[in-house]
Amino acid sequence: MKFSTPTTHKIVVATITFGLFAFSAAQAQQVPVPPKMVPEMTEFWEPEPRVVTPGQGMAAPSDALVLFDGKSLDQWKAKSGGGAAAWQVKDGTFIVGKGDISTKREFGDFQLHIEWSAPNKVEGNSQGRGNSGIFLQDRYELQVLDSYNNRTYSNGQAGSIYKQHRPLVNAMRPPTEWNVYDIIYTAPRFKEDGSLFSPARVTVLHNGVLIQNNTEVKGPTEYIGLPEYKAHGKAPISLQDHGNPVAYRNIWIREL
Ligand code: MG
Repeated sequence: MKFSTPTTHKIVVATITFGLFAFSAAQAQQVPVPPKMVPEMTEFWEPEPRVVTPGQGMAAPSDALVLFDGKSLDQWKAKSGGGAAAWQVKDGTFIVGKGDISTKREFGDFQLHIEWSAPNKVEGNSQGRGNSGIFLQDRYELQVLDSYNNRTYSNGQAGSIYKQHRPLVNAMRPPTEWNVYDIIYTAPRFKEDGSLFSPARVTVLHNGVLIQNNTEVKGPTEYIGLPEYKAHGKAPISLQDHGNPVAYRNIWIREL
């Protein structure tokens, strides 16, 4: 290979430099000079988040709809037939009775706070101990079960998306103590032809511990067989009667 002489080299460098300068000058005529970068360029002020007053402890924040305040099941109805929710209200709680119950209101995306307690008297094993359930949009069951020293199939224990996803960990408190679920739910979206656009997603904290992390729901809960989505709109929250006297209290929801 033959290297260029110093003189040739200078000419080449000068030519390139001039070329770049000429190109830059041409560009400068067409493109406006960008404004000076300042911190305010990456701020936005609208919309301003509205003010919500948080509740004391686990109490509902100011913008929540209270679904159970310890006094009545006015916000609930029987899932079958739509009559009055006939579960017993007692000492600021209510106890699972005959037949599932549903909220009178229907919901899409939401944040739900719900507290529950397995029966004080430990009876039964596996799925037979302290079984109830929270059906998100009436279809997708977040399992309620006494999973304190009670082995069952992992995707059927407390905090599972029943028969689909196990909880990441078992954060269960023993019977006689209250458990808390904080649930952030994104409803599934459907196309105009009724086919699935995006599945439901759910994040769950069990007693403050993350147990479902933006989990993709596979479809409506099935006891036998595989789930399959069917298009639906807003729907109630339903609670399951599985024949065990599970107690609930302090339920509130924020629509998102
Ligand atoms: Mg259940």
